[in-house]
Amino acid sequence: MDLRYSESDERFRAELRSWLAGVLPTLPPKPAPEDWPARRDYDTGWQRLLFDAGYAGINWPTEYGGRGATLVEQLIFLEETTRAGAPYVGVNFVGAMHAGPTIMAEASDEQKARHLPRILRGEEVWCQGFSEAGSGSDLASLSTKGARDGEEYVVTGEKIWTSFAQVADWCELLIRTDPEAPKHKGITWVMFPMDTPGIEIRPIETIVGSSEFSEVFFDEARVPVANRVGAENDGWRVAMVTFGFERGTGFVSDLVETDRMLTELVELARMVTRSKATAWDDQALRRELAHLQAEMDALWALTKRNLSQAARTGVPGPLGSVVKVAYSELYQRATDLAMRILERGSLSRDDLGDWPSGRFVEERLRSTSFTIAAGTSQIQRNIIAERILGLPRE
Ligand SMILES: Cc1cc2nc3c(=O)[nH]c(=O)nc-3n(C[C@H](O)[C@H](O)[C@H](O)COP(=O)(O)OP(=O)(O)OC[C@H]3O[C@@H](n4cnc5c(N)ncnc54)[C@H](O)[C@@H]3O)c2cc1C
Repeated sequence: MDLRYSESDERFRAELRSWLAGVLPTLPPKPAPEDWPARRDYDTGWQRLLFDAGYAGINWPTEYGGRGATLVEQLIFLEETTRAGAPYVGVNFVGAMHAGPTIMAEASDEQKARHLPRILRGEEVWCQGFSEAGSGSDLASLSTKGARDGEEYVVTGEKIWTSFAQVADWCELLIRTDPEAPKHKGITWVMFPMDTPGIEIRPIETIVGSSEFSEVFFDEARVPVANRVGAENDGWRVAMVTFGFERGTGFVSDLVETDRMLTELVELARMVTRSKATAWDDQALRRELAHLQAEMDALWALTKRNLSQAARTGVPGPLGSVVKVAYSELYQRATDLAMRILERGSLSRDDLGDWPSGRFVEERLRSTSFTIAAGTSQIQRNIIAERILGLPRE
């Protein structure tokens, strides 16, 4: 891996920077967190702008509307968009970060041509229907039934924690198609249209006050067999490909965002006064922040290695679990530190005077979910033990 920047990389950076400088001031204000139709419009509108300017799917092949660019350009894109405070991928997360990449790796040519350009243009929003009430960590025990009836599967059951379900057009859905087979062998991965009759979506409110995810109920909802990705009953293997992307490369922009948050924490510590000193005058606190920054730098190096491996093989490996567990725990420690800097200020979700404190309080609440979503830290550690370190199976 050679991550030094060439002249053409620097040209790409300069062009992107100037495009961002022109386009960001023209964006409408961000919608309220609970206004989901407006959030969908905002996020898909941004995706369309990226697409029209040739910045959607930086590493996706040009035949599917991507830029077909190098790994280094992808990293530059992430660095520059985060640095400029550009919108995040938002409701396009599942489509752009793991459903699309899974389709690219596993689906038929017809399925790729149908979905991938639409995902990049912001015309298809996706959600993920994997978890069930009794099947989160033990996902392979899932019981949502997909009974074969000619050229259709009849889907009955319940999914939970389905992020963006209320605004999604499609769902990457795991169904049990052979109840007699061992649990890993009877699962199928299908592309499920969210406007199918027989489904009901019930949003769940979180501690942050928004409904990022929902319960989804299926009552004999029919999906064509032609929507299957991979073979019937081979869905567990396809799901592992999805997880490779979700845990491996899906978090990269969050990582850049965390790096930015650490810089903002320094600014916050300089602002917050304690009698005659500022929080920043506390040497132990400065050391703690420096430690977090050093860990962040190491994690960024590991991420580059992981991305480089993914670019070579087409699919990220279990190294993604290392990044996921390290990143999510580092993020929680950073937001904990923010609460200690704010002291009593952390009891309010509103900004206090000039301090941008509300944002840090919200991040602290939100960060609780980071070590659960996309597989808990305990499950990631099991994967690291078994698949990277070669320790005996659980
Ligand atoms: C913000 C957020 C968004 C999400 N979005 C989606 C989504 O879009 N689609 C989707 O399908 N799911 C989604 N999820 C669900 C997520 O994948 C599950 O919450 C997660 O896999 C854990 O499953 P669970 O909640 O059932 O917990 P459980 O599996 O019940 O785990 C409970 C506790 O037991 C521990 N545990 C369980 N088994 C083991 C073991 N073998 N060894 C050691 N410890 C163990 C866990 O680590 C955890 O601490 C989301 C979750 C969150 C928080």
